[in-house]
Amino acid sequence: MPGVPDVQLSSLYQQLILEHYKKPRNRGALEDKTVEVHMRNPACGDEIKLQMKVEDDIIRDLRFLGDGCSISQASVSMMTSMLKDRPLDDAIALARRFTEMMHGDPEAAKDRSLKDLRALQGVSKFPIRVKCALLGFDALQQAVLQSRTATGDQESAPSEGS
Ligand code: ZN
Repeated sequence: MPGVPDVQLSSLYQQLILEHYKKPRNRGALEDKTVEVHMRNPACGDEIKLQMKVEDDIIRDLRFLGDGCSISQASVSMMTSMLKDRPLDDAIALARRFTEMMHGDPEAAKDRSLKDLRALQGVSKFPIRVKCALLGFDALQQAVLQSRTATGDQESAPSEGS
């Protein structure tokens, strides 16, 4: 039977991961995408192609195609389920928070804004699997970057920092 994570997670969290793995949200091709990012994690054989439709710095829609272990696919499924109609800034904030959790930050692990993604917190103890969990978010950050570059002629420079 495929799909059973080889890491020890609480059964509730494990169930949630398997549920997303077996019934991924937003899986498939996006017809009117404005950006597409393809990411691979050769260490595990995971692959994710993230497609988004971005308008006025809002993610109007997003879908993914992918293949790989349950952690990589569940992570991207959870991610896509949280970002429809959200600004690019929210996507970056989510990616940052999730990355903090995957690097073992206990505050991030308690952050309810991570929703289902908190099920992956136990993975942070297995460095080799952290890459699996972060693959979709790496794609997301790249997609946001490309979306911003594509519309670089608006306004002046966006205010960074603070
Ligand atoms: Zn993997």
